[in-house]
Formats: sequence, structure tokens, C-alpha cells
Amino acid sequence: MTDIVTIPYIEGDGAGDDIWHASKEVLEESVQKAYGGKKRIKWISLLAGEKALAKTGELLPEETLQTVKAHQVAIKGPLTTPVGGGFRSVNVYLRQIFDLYVCMRPIRFLPGLPSPLKKPEHVNFIIFRENTEDLYKGIEWRAESKESLIFLTFLREKMGVSLTDDTGVGVKPISRTGTARFTRWVLDYAIKNNRKAVTVVHKGNIMKYTEGAFREWAYEVARGYADKLTFSGEKDKILFNDRIADNMFLQVILRPEDYDILLCPNLNGDYLSDACAALIGGLGVAPGANFGDNVAIFEPTHGSAPKYAGKDLSNPTSFLLCGAMLFRHINLEKAADILEYAIEETVGNKIVTYDLARQMDNVRPVRCSEYGEVIKKRIEQRA
Ligand code: NAP
Repeated sequence: MTDIVTIPYIEGDGAGDDIWHASKEVLEESVQKAYGGKKRIKWISLLAGEKALAKTGELLPEETLQTVKAHQVAIKGPLTTPVGGGFRSVNVYLRQIFDLYVCMRPIRFLPGLPSPLKKPEHVNFIIFRENTEDLYKGIEWRAESKESLIFLTFLREKMGVSLTDDTGVGVKPISRTGTARFTRWVLDYAIKNNRKAVTVVHKGNIMKYTEGAFREWAYEVARGYADKLTFSGEKDKILFNDRIADNMFLQVILRPEDYDILLCPNLNGDYLSDACAALIGGLGVAPGANFGDNVAIFEPTHGSAPKYAGKDLSNPTSFLLCGAMLFRHINLEKAADILEYAIEETVGNKIVTYDLARQMDNVRPVRCSEYGEVIKKRIEQRA
């Protein structure tokens, strides 16, 4: 009898369409191959973002939320968020509503990928980003709005801080509770997966009571794992240390081999994710996942790249690698291995989309759909 693996998916806006269509059958074939037809994916299509707004008048229909909640996993393409005005990010809302407090973004060099580094093979670390707090909480008010004027008056009258009335203001909340549960999740992951080091990334020298506190609270939790962690480099234990965020941007370029897991507050983790993706070819190959205690949503680091919408050019590798992460999460390790191996072989043979080809010498790019077909065929032909 065939075991049905049900996976809800959100196609995404912009280039999300092309990426989904190039990836769907590759993901199906990975499962088919891995389990000799004994398991099969059943997709549930869900609406969110621009498509949901056009079809239902809502950015995030209740049915989408209920289905993700019921199945506890989903894979999603990127969703567009207008800059400066318009609606707030549906991506951020999804993370908040399901309390997906851990964002995981592996940064791993695959042989064959282009890189600005001399020794890119040293790049193999994971960025973990706290996903619910910090400036992403969305507590901010436009300059000269009623709310910002109330806030500015409060600051002036009660806190002795004087700012001009044309100041826009935002609040950066980082809590002990939020930091501690995030740190615990990541340390448990590090121990379970035999990782070598965990580095807290913060700007605590300047933002003492938010990012500085994040560092302190992370150490507080880490001290509770004294049998597994070391703060001084003891052998056979996981090294726990910290770096100031600006220095971290330099470290990942000059000494990537020294880093293994980066533990970041929300905004640092966001910035660092794109910068580190550049070390291994770019956003087209950077997968990610968001975990809470009940639900996990898998999504690429990249956005909807609207200028490439419908052009069949975008790189679906990030999305496919998200699929591999999802397979591991639901205990389909063999399908994940097969998929990752096929991607590595394809990239290793210089069969790549425009974003990678333009960084390589004499390589003709393939289309998004062609790339998916090549990988699918590679999986089909696997002994
Ligand atoms: P972006 O969509 O990530 O695109 C930035 C650039 O990265 C693209 O122009 C392209 O570079 C490259 N790129 C991104 N995805 C690629 C892929 N699959 N293959 C090859 N190259 C890729 O970032 P953005 O332009 O800043 O944001 C666009 C929209 O996406 C915004 O509305 C933003 O809010 C949203 N966004 C959503 C998510 C999410 O859904 N989780 C995350 C980030 C941003 P070149 O132009 O150099 O080829």
C-alpha cells in the first residue's frame, strides 16, 4: 500500500510561480525514488499574499492558517511586501501567528558553486535567527502621526529624551523569555547534531539593553549546559562564544572555517543571511526553515524577485533545498539525501541558472524549468 505524505504549499508571489513549477515534480520524484513508490506526496495548495488578496480579498485566508495548523508543516515560496507603506509582511505575520521563533538558514558551499572567496569549501555553517521579536515586531509609527507625537511627548515629558516632531519611531523589543527559549532550541539542536561551536552575534556594545541583554541571556542559558558546552575551548565540548555583529560580517568572509552555528537576534540574522548567501553563489541557493513548538514552515531566504516573475529564469535551488530540509523534518531522510545529491551533481556539472552562470566562465545558463527537468532526470536515472 502507498503511504501518502501530505504537504501543504504556498506557491508565492513574483518568481515564486516559476520556482514552484520547476520544483514540484523534482520533490515528488525524490520521494518516489527513495521509497520505491511506497510513499507518495499529496500536495495541498494554499493561498497567501498577493494571490490570496486577488482571489479572496484577504492576504492570509483563515483556511490557509487552519490547514497549516492541522498538518504542522508547510513549504512556501516568497511573498511580496511593499516597502515604506501598504500592508505589513505576510511572511512575518505567519512567523508570529504560529510562533515560529527559530529561523534556520544553512550556508553550505557545494563544489562547483561560484564564490568570491579563495577557499569557499570552508563555508559550512548555520545561521539561526530569533524570529518573533526585535524590530520585526512591527511596533513603529510614521513621523508626525498622532501615535508618534504621543510617543515623542511621553519620551520628552517622562523620560527626558527630546526628539523633533518630524521623527518616525520604532520599538526594538528583545525579552529574556524570547531569547532563552530560542537559545535552548538552538543548543539542543547543536548537541543532537554534534556541532562544533555556537557563536552569539550581537551589537551589545551599542544597544546594551536589547542586543547586549540578548548576549547575556544566551550565556545564562548556555551555562545550564555546562556538561556539553565549553567557554574556553575544552576538548570534546561545543565551544560557546560571541562576536559583535559588524566584526561577524568580516569573520564570515575572512575566517569562515572558525564558525559553525551563529545565534542571532532577528535583524542581525536577516542581514547576515543575505550576506552569507553571497559567499556560496547567492540567494538562489540559500534555503531556510522556521520552527515553532507545533508548526514548521520551510521557505527560501530570497524574496519574490518581482522583476523575474514569469520569465522562467530564477534559480529554484533554494526552494529545492528547503524541500530537502522539510523531508528531513518529517523523517524522509533518504529522499532528502537523494535530492541533495542530485542538486550537487547538477551544479558540479555546471548546469546552472543565470544567477550562477554569470559568475562563472563560459557557462551557458539554463532556464528555471530546464534546471528542474535535469535534476528530476538525474534522480530518475539513479541506480
Ligand atoms: P529578492 O526578491 O530576494 O531579490 C533580490 C535579488 O536577489 C534579485 O533581484 C536577484 O538578483 C536575486 N535573487 C533572488 N531570488 C533569486 C532566485 N531564486 N534566483 C536567482 N536570483 C535570485 O529581494 P528584494 O528584491 O529585496 O525583495 C522583493 C520582494 O520580496 C519584497 O516585496 C520583499 O519584501 C519580499 N521578500 C520576501 C521574503 C519572503 O517571502 N520570505 C524574503 C525577502 C524579501 P539579480 O537581480 O542580481 O539577478
